[in-house]
Amino acid sequence: MSPVVSGAAHVHLVGAGPGDPELLTVKAVRAIRQATVLLVDDLVGEGVLRYARRSARIVHVGKRGGCASTPQAFIERLMVAEVRRGERVVRLKGGDPFVFGRGGEEAASLRAAGVEVEVVNGITAGLAAATSIGVPLTHRDHAHGVVFVTGHARRDAAGAAIDWPTLAAAAAEGLTLVIYMGIATVEALQSGLCGALPPRTPVAVVQNASLPTQRQAFGTLGTLVETIANAGLGSPSIIVVGDVARAALLASAQTEEARRAS
Ligand code: SAH
Repeated sequence: MSPVVSGAAHVHLVGAGPGDPELLTVKAVRAIRQATVLLVDDLVGEGVLRYARRSARIVHVGKRGGCASTPQAFIERLMVAEVRRGERVVRLKGGDPFVFGRGGEEAASLRAAGVEVEVVNGITAGLAAATSIGVPLTHRDHAHGVVFVTGHARRDAAGAAIDWPTLAAAAAEGLTLVIYMGIATVEALQSGLCGALPPRTPVAVVQNASLPTQRQAFGTLGTLVETIANAGLGSPSIIVVGDVARAALLASAQTEEARRAS
C-alpha cells in the first residue's frame, strides 16, 4: 500500500464520511492515526475521532450551538502555521471534502501558501442517506443520472439563486435530485420544483444518516413541507426527489399499515 504521507510539508484534507466510523476509508483512518493536529468540522461524527492518537491536538472549528463558525481565513492560517511547525495536520471534513465542503477553497489557499495538499475521499452524505433507506440513486427503469445540489444559495455577487424550475425539468427527464442543506429553504424548494415535476413525485428525507440518531420520512413533493414538519426533522438532512424514492415510500406505507393492523 502506498504511504499516506508523501513529500514535505503537507496537509491531509480528509473526508470523514456521514458519521458512522465504519464508513471511513482505510486511507482516512491511516491519516487520522498519523495526525498530531486535527482540525475538525461540526458534522464529523464523534466516533471518527476514536482513531486519533491520545496525544493529538483536536481543534473543533465548526459552528456549535448556533455560534458563528470559526472564520475560514483563521482555519487556513492555523493549518499553515501548524504544518510549518512540523506537525502532521489533518483537516477532517464531514462526508467528502470536495462535495459542498469548501475543500476546494481550502486546498487552493494552502497551495497558495506553499503547502502541499493530499485529499482523501469520504462517503458523501447524499450517498449514505439514500443507501440507508434502500434508495438506489440511479436505476435503469427510473433514473439515468443524479444531481447533487445545495438548497442554500450563496447570497453575494458571485452566487446565483438556485433555479429550481430548471432542476425540476432535469428531474422530469429522469434525474434523481439529492439536495443538501435544503431544510431551511424547503418552502422555496417545494414551490420551485412543483410545476415541471408533478406534486405526486416521491420524496425521502433523511436526517443524521448512518448515525444511531438517524430518522427519515417519506412523502410526495406536494406535501414535502408537511412531511418534514410532521416528522420533526431538522438539519443535517438530505432530501431525495425522484421516482427512485417510490420504493422507500411504498415500504414505509406498508410498515405503517402493518403497525396499525397489529
Ligand atoms: N461535505 C459534506 C457536505 C457538507 S454540507 C458531504 O459530502 O456530505 C452540509 C450538509 O450535508 C448538511 O446540511 C446536510 O444536508 C448534509 N449532511 C451531512 N451529514 C449528514 C448526515 N449524516 N445525514 C444527512 N445529511 C447530512
